[in-house]
Amino acid sequence: MTESTLTKVVLSEDQIPTHWYNIVADLPTPPPPHLHPGTREPLAAEDMTALFPMGLIAQEASTERWIEIPEEVRAIYRLWRPSPMYRARRFEKALGTTAKIYVKYEGASPVGSHKTNSAVPQAYYNMLEGKTRLVTETGAGQWGAALSFASEMFGLSCDVFQVRNTYEGKPYRRMQMEVFGGKVTPSPSNRTHAGRELRLKFPHTTGSLGMAISEAIEEAVKDPNASYALGSVLNHVALHQTVIGQEAILQLEAFGERPADYLFACAGGGSNLAGLSFPILRENLEGRASTKIVACEPKAAPSLTEGEYKYDFGDSSNMTPLLKMYTLGADFVPDPVHAGGLRYHGMAPLVSHCYSEGLMDAISVKQLDAFAAGVMYARAEGIIPASESCHALAGAVEQARKATEDGSSPVILVGVSGNGQLDLPAYHEFIQGKMADS
Ligand SMILES: *Cc1c(COP(=O)(O)O)cnc(C)c1O
Repeated sequence: MTESTLTKVVLSEDQIPTHWYNIVADLPTPPPPHLHPGTREPLAAEDMTALFPMGLIAQEASTERWIEIPEEVRAIYRLWRPSPMYRARRFEKALGTTAKIYVKYEGASPVGSHKTNSAVPQAYYNMLEGKTRLVTETGAGQWGAALSFASEMFGLSCDVFQVRNTYEGKPYRRMQMEVFGGKVTPSPSNRTHAGRELRLKFPHTTGSLGMAISEAIEEAVKDPNASYALGSVLNHVALHQTVIGQEAILQLEAFGERPADYLFACAGGGSNLAGLSFPILRENLEGRASTKIVACEPKAAPSLTEGEYKYDFGDSSNMTPLLKMYTLGADFVPDPVHAGGLRYHGMAPLVSHCYSEGLMDAISVKQLDAFAAGVMYARAEGIIPASESCHALAGAVEQARKATEDGSSPVILVGVSGNGQLDLPAYHEFIQGKMADS
């Protein structure tokens, strides 16, 4: 077969998936259920109605393989989907590698990351059930921005608790939320009981995602017209992200490269990794592929590679259901590395289950290696990757080097989950040689 000379494959709008893919239907063993924190019994739908609309609760527990994407959601997906896939030839050349590197790029969405893939359906199901307000937390601000945008699309108001450290240190993401109509509060705050308690206990804290989740849940439960929304970790979020992997399969095929030998995606809460990899994992499970799927974590929050697989809370004040996941402990506060979206103590239960069953691998990446890969990618391909996405690129670089050493030319698929236009101060620090390693 002659090799494809295509640089990118852009699908047409009618190739946006019509359904989300639910990996639960195809897993060899069922994933452990979420538990009620009081009784430790499997969570019932009623236990979640104070937080989420029924449409999302049903998806959280669903075992259906395909779940139809509402037309109203697909209509908004059309603003940036299908997302492009690139053959990163100049990057390959810069690396001097014999490997072939393909990049599935989620950075062209309204807020510059994959998060809108779930924010839009989450806002939609809330609107459908008469909610008028969404409350959430955000670390670096990407999820808060995505939900602010999605809320605006469906006429909901959006209240965001942002980790204080980034609220103060990275003001542009806050401004982006404000442009999309979001109301942003630095967390921990004095607005909630949880926030006041945390401030008493840790007077100098710069906040954490776990703390902000506690505040958002408390605020949402207080208001019958409000719901809580989570940007990663939960099954329904992983589900929504599967549009990425379904498109990627078609695009690799158009490049003449199906299936890939390796897949690298960064993993914070696990949603972009799940989104890109679950449709490909299905190919593996059905014997059509044997793609090695690799989760790329930051050294500063290595839940899969160094955490424990057990039931744990998703937040620091023990307000969420108990989730069976790889965790560093609900009160773990990661070092303030630049990849804010990867600073989470746990990992999506579905990703955790797949990892524990040996269906995925994981590596941890040091901050300096991540940015070195990111700068190299930017200079070769013209796209500045999000600091989180740099971890996936670093994983691919390592694999490409191995391939060059043994003279093989594997197909490496990399998920670039977002662009780094608002991460420029971190790039500046790296280029000045002032960035600390993890
Ligand atoms: C939030 C975020 C991540 C990490 O979240 P996951 O749930 O692990 O996907 C990765 N990349 C970008 C660009 C993000 O905004």
